Amino acid sequence: MAYDSNNIFAKILRGEIPNQTVYEDEHVLAFRDIRPQAKAHVLLIPKGPYESFEDFSARASDAEIVAFTRAVAKVSRLAGIDVTGYRAIANTGADGHQEVPHFHLHLLGGQRLGRMVS
Ligand code: C5P
Repeated sequence: MAYDSNNIFAKILRGEIPNQTVYEDEHVLAFRDIRPQAKAHVLLIPKGPYESFEDFSARASDAEIVAFTRAVAKVSRLAGIDVTGYRAIANTGADGHQEVPHFHLHLLGGQRLGRMVS
C-alpha cells in the first residue's frame, strides 16, 4: 500500500499540527501521546515516509534504523523511564490495531504496568 502523506504524523512532521516534542534529530521525532495510556507515554517516529514496522524494516536506510534504535534509549532517559523500565510497542497493521499509518513506537512507563494479556 502507498504511504498516505495526509496521515496525522506526517502533518506533525510538516509542522501543521503542534506536538509536545521530547527529542528530535535528523532522522527521528519523539513526542508525548495526546491520549496517554500510562503516566509516561511517548511516541517515537522516523521522519521518513514509512507506513509500518514492516515497511520501515524493509525500506529504511541503515542510518535511519541505527538512529531510530539509538533514539529509544535517548527518549527513555529524557522521559525519565530508563531506570524504572518501560514497554515499547509497535502496533502493526489491522491485527495489531495500528490506527496511524506512519510507523511509530509507543514507549509506556512511569508506573508499574500490568502484564500483557493480548
Ligand atoms: O498504534 P496506534 O496507531 O493505534 O496509535 C496511535 C497513537 O497516536 C494513539 O495512542 C493516539 O493517542 C496518538 N495520537 C497522538 N496525536 C495525534 C493523534 C494520535 O498522539 N494528533
